[in-house]
Amino acid sequence: MIHQSAFASSMAASLAFSKPLLPFSSSSHANLFVRLRTQTYHHRSKSEIKCQVRKEDVVIVGAGIAGLATALSLHRLGVKSLVLEQAHSLRTGGTSLTLFKNGWRVLDAIGVAHYLRPNFLEIQGMAVKSEDGRELRSFTFKQEDQSQEVRAVERRVLLETLAGELPQDMIQFSSKLARIEANLDGETLLELADGSKLLAKIVIGCDGIRSPIAKWMGFPEANYVGHCAFRGLASYPEGQPYGPRVSYIYGRGVRAGYVPVSPTKVYWFICFNSSSPGPKITDPTVLKKQAKELVKNWPSELLDIVDATPDETVSKTPLVDRWLWPAVTPPASAGRVVLVGDAWHPMTPNLGQGACCALEDAVVLAKKLAGAIKTNEDYSSVEGALRSYGSERWPRVFPLTIRAYLVGSILQWENPLVCSVRNNIVIPKLVRLGPLLEHTNFTPGNL
Ligand SMILES: Cc1cc2nc3c(=O)[nH]c(=O)nc-3n(C[C@H](O)[C@H](O)[C@H](O)COP(=O)(O)OP(=O)(O)OC[C@H]3O[C@@H](n4cnc5c(N)ncnc54)[C@H](O)[C@@H]3O)c2cc1C
Repeated sequence: MIHQSAFASSMAASLAFSKPLLPFSSSSHANLFVRLRTQTYHHRSKSEIKCQVRKEDVVIVGAGIAGLATALSLHRLGVKSLVLEQAHSLRTGGTSLTLFKNGWRVLDAIGVAHYLRPNFLEIQGMAVKSEDGRELRSFTFKQEDQSQEVRAVERRVLLETLAGELPQDMIQFSSKLARIEANLDGETLLELADGSKLLAKIVIGCDGIRSPIAKWMGFPEANYVGHCAFRGLASYPEGQPYGPRVSYIYGRGVRAGYVPVSPTKVYWFICFNSSSPGPKITDPTVLKKQAKELVKNWPSELLDIVDATPDETVSKTPLVDRWLWPAVTPPASAGRVVLVGDAWHPMTPNLGQGACCALEDAVVLAKKLAGAIKTNEDYSSVEGALRSYGSERWPRVFPLTIRAYLVGSILQWENPLVCSVRNNIVIPKLVRLGPLLEHTNFTPGNL
């Protein structure tokens, strides 16, 4: 169970600053110190300050897949953490995520896969079609790799399942990180939008593609890659008619897909080229209209699926990524602050690996961190453990980010001749699924 908890009611230890903070950015740090001192001596009693600056060992920012999986992995290893989430509750909207065997191995390792599997269909294979509905090629996952496991899970259910395994009060909602500062002892001050403050020994940034923590660490913004995706989760209370097979349809500069999620739900996407992300649109009627316009002459089942979609699940997302160039992009950790999931390596969804990699990150980090904390209770080996996490994960996530980008670029080709070669020669005769899914070979081991 998850409870919203206010700082004021926290039983956690508190701390008034006894020494000045040292800057990553020195001027803002100095200002913070002056402000805290001013509060101490001119406005607030010591006990009020104590209520305001709470001390925590491990703080995770963001209760998405990365944050919850990291919190749960640490919990399984006996390490307590506090998860701060800006929203008032878990994200209940949204669609689904296709998880491949690497994602399922992690969910097995952290002990939640058995809750999820019965609710989501195992996808047997995929069919690739052209926009006139002609089947270009079909694949069966198990024929390519007996150990492959592909299921699309509803994001809401995945989040609720992860959160449901955490102790009460471990997730603190309505807690938007507004500011972050490092201090002399290697601890990190986190200031929330409501003005409350925490001092954390370790900070794990799981705050997604626009991560304020990544920004603070010097990472550039994620790049818009030139295409956007409409998405939705169609609902069929009487049972969906599509069976356990993914269908992809490749057109010119537009592609679409629909994925059976459960006996009653089908996830769909329509991805299209656009020189800019365009205005943010949230009106589901407009979104559906625009999505259908893109595929109006395509197989009618796609239009039917869009029509069967509840408004609250429809969205449009500009696709972004960030390439972690060696020696140019900052490392995954700075001192005792570290990034996980999209906060570190946003990637386009063309390989269905963003969430899978966030899950992988979570177990790798948790093992290293728990080992370091248990070996040296003074946290002296934590920085090394975080660096080791970054070094182990970088060769995994950097090539995948590039590969996902390249696959997306090929699938978004517009040139009619090139598309014709792709659809009539490359896909039917040359593509092999096995090598394309080799990146799903990841074994997390036991926690
Ligand atoms: C169109 C599309 C399709 C995709 N399909 C797949 C797929 O099929 N398979 C797959 O594996 N991946 C897929 N992905 C990728 C996947 O969605 C992401 O990789 C995954 O959600 C990353 O999880 P995360 O926890 O790192 O980030 P998020 O899910 O973004 O979570 C970040 C959390 O941090 C919180 N937060 C942000 N800022 C603050 C703050 N200042 N203070 C407190 N909290 C904050 C947010 O509210 C949020 O809850 C897809 C992505 C897109 C865009």
